[in-house]
Formats: sequence, C-alpha cells, structure tokens
Amino acid sequence: MNSKILRFNLENYGTEGGVLIERALDFATKAHEGQSRKSGWPYITHPTAVAQSLIELDMDAQTIAAALLHDTIEDTSVTIQDLQAIFGTEIAGLVEGVTKTGQVDHMPSEATARTAASAENIRKLLLAMTKDIRVIIIKLADRTHNLSTLQYLSPEKQQRIARESLEIYAPLADRLGMGALKVQIEDLSFAYLYPGAYGELSKLMASYGRSSQKYLSMLKKQIAGNLSKAGLEVVSIDGRTKHLYSIWRKLQKADGDIEKIYDLIAIRIIVPTESDCYQALGILHQHFKPLIYRIKDYIAVPKPNGYRSLHTTVFAAEGRITEIQIRTPQMHSEAEKGLAAHFYYNSVKGSSNYKKANVSAVPSKLGWVNELVDVGQVTGSGQDFVDALKVDLFVDRIFVFSPKGDLYDLPEGATPIDFAFMVHSGLGLKVAGAKVNGRIASLDAPLANRDVVEILTRKNIEPKRAWLTSVKTANARSRIRAWFRKQSYEENFVSGRGLIETELKAWGHAPSAVSDELWQQAADSLGFKNPGLMQAAVGEGSISAHVVVRRLFPVEDTKPTASVVPESGPRPKPGLLTVQIAGTHNLPYQLSPCCHPSYPQPIIGYITRGKGITVHSKSCPNLPDDKPRLVSCRWQAASDYHQPHNIRIIAQNRLGLLRDVTALVTTEKYNITAIHSYDNEEGTESTIELTVEVPNRDRLVVLMRKLGHIQDVGTVQIK
Ligand code: MN
Repeated sequence: MNSKILRFNLENYGTEGGVLIERALDFATKAHEGQSRKSGWPYITHPTAVAQSLIELDMDAQTIAAALLHDTIEDTSVTIQDLQAIFGTEIAGLVEGVTKTGQVDHMPSEATARTAASAENIRKLLLAMTKDIRVIIIKLADRTHNLSTLQYLSPEKQQRIARESLEIYAPLADRLGMGALKVQIEDLSFAYLYPGAYGELSKLMASYGRSSQKYLSMLKKQIAGNLSKAGLEVVSIDGRTKHLYSIWRKLQKADGDIEKIYDLIAIRIIVPTESDCYQALGILHQHFKPLIYRIKDYIAVPKPNGYRSLHTTVFAAEGRITEIQIRTPQMHSEAEKGLAAHFYYNSVKGSSNYKKANVSAVPSKLGWVNELVDVGQVTGSGQDFVDALKVDLFVDRIFVFSPKGDLYDLPEGATPIDFAFMVHSGLGLKVAGAKVNGRIASLDAPLANRDVVEILTRKNIEPKRAWLTSVKTANARSRIRAWFRKQSYEENFVSGRGLIETELKAWGHAPSAVSDELWQQAADSLGFKNPGLMQAAVGEGSISAHVVVRRLFPVEDTKPTASVVPESGPRPKPGLLTVQIAGTHNLPYQLSPCCHPSYPQPIIGYITRGKGITVHSKSCPNLPDDKPRLVSCRWQAASDYHQPHNIRIIAQNRLGLLRDVTALVTTEKYNITAIHSYDNEEGTESTIELTVEVPNRDRLVVLMRKLGHIQDVGTVQIK
C-alpha cells in the first residue's frame, strides 16, 4: 500500500474502493507535482483535505476519487479525456462538473459583476447537480477547505470568497441538510466578512460558555438521572453553545439583546429509537416546565431539508431557559451529513438504486433543484434569475400545510397565491380567496410557519395583475406573467379577427369563405408564422385589417360588392357624417362631385394622384376601372370618429404609473389632448383621467384593454 494513503481510513471502502482511491491519489500527486498552494504547502494537500472531509461524510469511493482529482483539469495539463480513459466516465463527469462550476470564480469583484458571476456560478452548479448530485457535495467540501486557508489570499479575494460562501454555499448546504458543512462555512465566512462582530461575539460566547460550564454539566447529570430512572437507554447527552453565525443572526432579530435569545445553549440527547424520543420528551416535561409554543416535532413533520428531531425549550435548573433536542443516531447523522447520508444509507443498505449505480439521481425531496433549473432555463441568466435564486434559495423558508396535512416548503413572505401555484398551477389560476387556519385571509398577506392554508376557487375567475407585486416565488410570478401574455394575445386575436371580418364584409366576402390555405398564404406573405399571429397583430394595431384583406383578396381578382354603413344606433345627422377609409386613421378625402354620394348609399374610394381619396357612390358610372387604386369605405358618424374619448384609469399608486400610461398611448400612436391624475387620501390609489383621440370604437376598446394590462391598473372605464 502506498504510504501516503495511510492517513485515510479506508476500511469502509473494501478492496476495490481502496484501490481506486489509491490510484486517484497517485495520479493527482503526480499531476500536481511541483505546484504549491498560496500557503506554500504542496498543492496535493488541498485535494487530500477535501477527500478526507468526504470520507468523514461516508461518501462513496467514486466521490473520494473525484475529490482527489478535482483540480487536475483546471490546474494541470490533464484533460477530461485522460480522466475518462483512466478512471471512466462517471469519475471524469464528477471532476468536470466541479471544474465547470468553479470557472466563474475568477470574475471581477465589483458588486454587479459579482452578482452576475454568482448567479452564473449557481446556474452551472444547479445544472451540474441535476446531472450528478454528488458534484455539489464535492464542491461544498472544496469550498470549506478553501475557506479554512483563506488567510493566505489578498483581502479582496477573502471578502469575495467569504461573501459568496455565506450567500450561496452555506444556504445550499442548509437546503441539502448538510448541517456540519453549513456550520463550518458560515463561521469561517463570518470571520472574514464581519471581523469586528465576529471578534466581539466569540469573546462574549467564550465567557458565556465558561460561565455555563457548571450549569451544563449539572443539567446533563440531572437529565441522565431522570431518563435512566424511567428505564430509558441513552446513547449520549451533549451540551454546547450554538455556532457563532447563527447566534449573530438571532441577535439581529432580537435587536442585539442577547438576553432575548433562549437557545444560546442546546442540550442534545441521543436515544436509540424514535419512540424513545417521544418517551424522553414526556419524561423531561415531567421535570421541567416547557415553553408550550416552543415544542417542535420535526419527527412527525420534518423540516423541508429533511431534518428530524424533537425540540423543546424548558425552564431548567435555576429557572434558566434551555433548548433540548432529542433524536436517534440515524437522525443525528442525517442532520450532520444531510444529502451525503443519503448516499451512505443507500450504500450500506445496498438499495436497488445503489446496485443499479443509479446513485447520482436527485432525491425526490430535492425537487426544488429541478425547479430552480427550470426557472433558470426560462429566465436565462439575467437579473430575473438572480432575483428568483435569492428568493427561492437564500431566504429563510417556512412550511405550511394543506387542509389534508400535506407539507409545502415556501420562502418567507410567501402568500396564499404562492402556495396555490406550488400545489398546482391550475389551482393558482383559479384562486378566489384563501382560508388560513380556518379564517378567511387576505391573498397578499404573508403566510406564517405552520399555517394551514386552504385555497378557495371559483369558476371563471382570473388572476390579478396586483398578484405580481405580492407573490414571492419565481414559479408563481412566471406563471402569472405567462397567463397575462397569453391573455393579451387572445384579446388581440379576438379583436383583430373582428376587425378583419368587418373589413371582409365591406368587400363582400363572407369571412367563413376564407379557406385555411388562404389565411396561411396571407400570413406567409406578411411575414407571420401563422394566421393567428397575423390576426393578433391586427388587434394590436401593428398592421391594418385592410392590408390583410388585400392579401386575402387582391383587388385585381375581385370587385367590391357591398359597403358597410354604421350597423347600429340612431341614424347620424348628415352634417356629422364622415367617411372611414379602410385601413387608415385620418386620410384626406372628398366626396366626388360627379355622383354626390350620400348616406346610406354604398360607397367606394378611389386613390387619386396627389389629391387624396375621392369617394364615389358604388353605382357611379364614372368610377375609374383602375382596381388596384380602389379602397373600401364606409360611412361613419362623426361623433364616433376622432372624437376625443375620456378614459378613467384607477390603479394602485406607484412610481412611474403615469409614465407607463402615456407611453402606451403614445406607442399606439394616439393623441392625448388632456391628462390629469390625483391620489386618494391615503396615497395608495391613483386615478388618471385622460382624453384620447381614437379613430373608432374598436380601437378604443382595444386601447382600454391594453391600458388594463399595465401593472397595478385595476379598472379602466369610459368617463
Ligand atoms: Mn479545489
């Protein structure tokens, strides 16, 4: 056996595993020969330290080998093909995954670049994780060792790496249930990021620990006595202060008052079985009065990351408030190792997955990894993704229940809407209200841990724009956005279709007579993928219905046979009558002196050279026979034409609302002749009244719908 390997305890790996690890160590040692770390130590000390901590997590031999090789591709002349040839695709794949996620580590350090780099890092990490979840475990061990040798790097690098570790790697370790690595990463990063606070707190806790020493050993003895008197076997009782970073965070929530923190010290009791846990809890409560609202049964209801344990906070000896955790050895090992324990138990039990060498799959409880990858694929790597990550991964989580008792894991601040979308996207789109703990609750109020949430639905109800501002999860937000995108497409489609049909009728074509081929041809010739998109473009106003009809029925091939007069309403007074020329807003025209067309005579327009359009009666014998220059026309009441319309918009008050409204009207190319806005007394609601010149009712309706789609707009009405 190679002498270098002696410091690894490989007895759990069998002959085959031991040989593999030994080969990887030899290979890595040769590859890194002559290289040294910033600390001056031989480079190989780093991969061996990473491998050592993974051995302590009982990771499988492939993972240990990959850990030894993890820096060979990036830092030596070894290639991925070399590794594939020598160690096989599985180990090579792991090394490649770790290498890829590390590459953006060397980005500039400005705040924005840092965010972008971190987001990109994480995106790669998540992708690598879905291929083989063991990549993240190696990466976490790698990062932990790098943090422990951070003193040799420049202060700038120290800050950057510590911050990324605290903001990304520690929460990841936590989400993966890897408590031991999380604690190390947090305290190491904390020391570099907030040296002042770290120094003060560690002094404070050291003296607190000393002064608590006597109390702790007394309490442990007392508890051990109580449990053994009741005939309960105890594996171990252990007392300790919590790690510094977690105390620091608790301190910030407690306004810096350390007296307010009850669980600076935790006693951990390990008993053989699950039922022993509950028995132990009962016995303890006979001797110490519990704080009722702090009894937590994470065995019946594990934390989202899989953590199981019983927690209770009691008035112990001397009336001191102390937290007690009770768990079995397996629960303890899972709490420390998390995801890594998943591999350990798979290998120990020789589970079918393990035998099939299918250990790399993402365990089902880590479905959020896949979800985040999905979000990443939808939103790309831009700011949206960074925001999504921050919320979905890095804020504190709460968990809430469905009325049936199913557990859901949401970011803190999530609303009943987030919950509904998490249960099912169909449910999210049908929310009419919500009951929280049996009472009707506001849809934008944040849920609290352990709430029981019941979603009330109704048919024909639609999502509200305002939800976009209150939801917290990327999933809910992207689904609501998609719904509105689809909706405005459908509205544009319907109104566009209507405008085209009116135009078709004006030309004497029955809309039903237009074949699918004809629609498709017209769409093709106008550069649309399909007729639906073309029709929606008409509804949106980006092309005119007349243009579409011209493509469907080129004028050369057809003779206009009918015209349309205003279909409804009182007969317009002659003086207020104008002519609408198909497909235009405001073209100059004149009534032809030869036939003096008058309402309701069918009319048709002729495009003259230089004098606009002349409107003839359709039966006019002088109508030139120059078909391409004929345009369809209809009579229109002047009151409906270019009449200024007064629109009232009521919206949630926000910065930029007025700008959004005017920008929309302007891009629609309508004229605003008056606008003013006022807020209600509380300043929460804005009313905007504007006068817009819109050519006809159809256009007005379309414009109003679009105004209704502006974020935070509640109602749009004609004043
Ligand atoms: Mn490394």
